Amino acid sequence: MNVIETQDIVYEYPDGTKALENVNFKVDEGKIVALLGPNGAGKSTLFLHFNGILKPSSGKILFNGSPVDYNKKNLMKLRQNVGIVFQNPDDQLFAPTVMEDVAFGPMNIGLSKEEIEKRVKDSLKRVGMEGFEKKPPHHLSGGQKKRVAIAGILAMDPKIMVLDEPTSGLDPKGASQIMRLLYELNEDGMTIIISTHDVDLVPLYASTVYIISHGNIIKEGNPRTVFGDV
Ligand code: ADP
Ligand code: ADP
Repeated sequence: MNVIETQDIVYEYPDGTKALENVNFKVDEGKIVALLGPNGAGKSTLFLHFNGILKPSSGKILFNGSPVDYNKKNLMKLRQNVGIVFQNPDDQLFAPTVMEDVAFGPMNIGLSKEEIEKRVKDSLKRVGMEGFEKKPPHHLSGGQKKRVAIAGILAMDPKIMVLDEPTSGLDPKGASQIMRLLYELNEDGMTIIISTHDVDLVPLYASTVYIISHGNIIKEGNPRTVFGDV
C-alpha cells in the first residue's frame, strides 16, 4: 500500500523557477525511502508537498490512495499524519526549553495536559534526550537539536516521518546515532522518508532509493540496483 504517491508533479516557484518536473515518487507503508541528489535538485521542494505546505503546479498527490484535499481541516489532519523534520533544527526549535518545544505540537492540537506530559516524556526518552527537559535548545549540540526536533514530531504521533538531510552537519557518530534511531522507529512501524547526501548510510537502511537531479527523478530502485555492488 502506497501511503504517499506523487503522479507527474510539476512545481514552479512564483519567481518562475521550475523546481520539479514530472516527479513520480511512491512510498510504501512501513518502509524507509531515501531521496538523493545534489543541492538545488528539488529535494526540499518535493518534501514540502508531502504535508501540503506546497501545492503542485500540476500533477497529483495521493495520501493513502486519495488525492490530497487542501481545505484547512484536511491539511491539519495531513500534517498530524506526516511530520516533517527540517534540515536546520534552528528553523524548528524556538521555545525557551526543550520540554516546551516538544510540547508545542501536542498543545496546538488541544490534547489534555496529562496526555501532553506523557507524550513529551515518551518522545524525549525515545530519542535519548531524557534529562534535557529544562535546557534551552540553543545550548544543545547539532545532533542533540536534531533529536529534540525528532521528538517534537514524534509527540504528534505521525504515521510518516519526513526528514530533510537528517545527518547533515553531524559527525559520523552523531549521524549514525540518528540513522539508528530512524531504523528503530521504522522497526516499530513508522514510515520514513529521508533526503541525504550521505550515500554511505543509505544502503544500510533504505529499502528504496530515488535519485533526483534538476527536478527530475533519474533513477529509482533498491540500493543494490541503484548503486551497483554495495
Ligand atoms: P534541494 O532541497 O535539493 O537542495 P530545493 O528544493 O531547495 O533543492 O530547490 C530546488 C530548486 O528550487 C533550486 O533551483 C532552488 O534554487 C529553487 N528554490 C527553492 N526554494 C525557492 C523559492 N522559495 N523560490 C524560488 N526558487 C526556489
Ligand atoms: P535546502 O538545501 O534544504 O533546499 P537551501 O539552502 O536550498 O536549502 O534553501 C534554504 C531556503 O532558501 C529555503 O527556504 C528555500 O526555499 C529558499 N531558497 C532556496 N533557493 C531559493 C531561490 N532561488 N529563491 C528564493 N528562495 C530560495
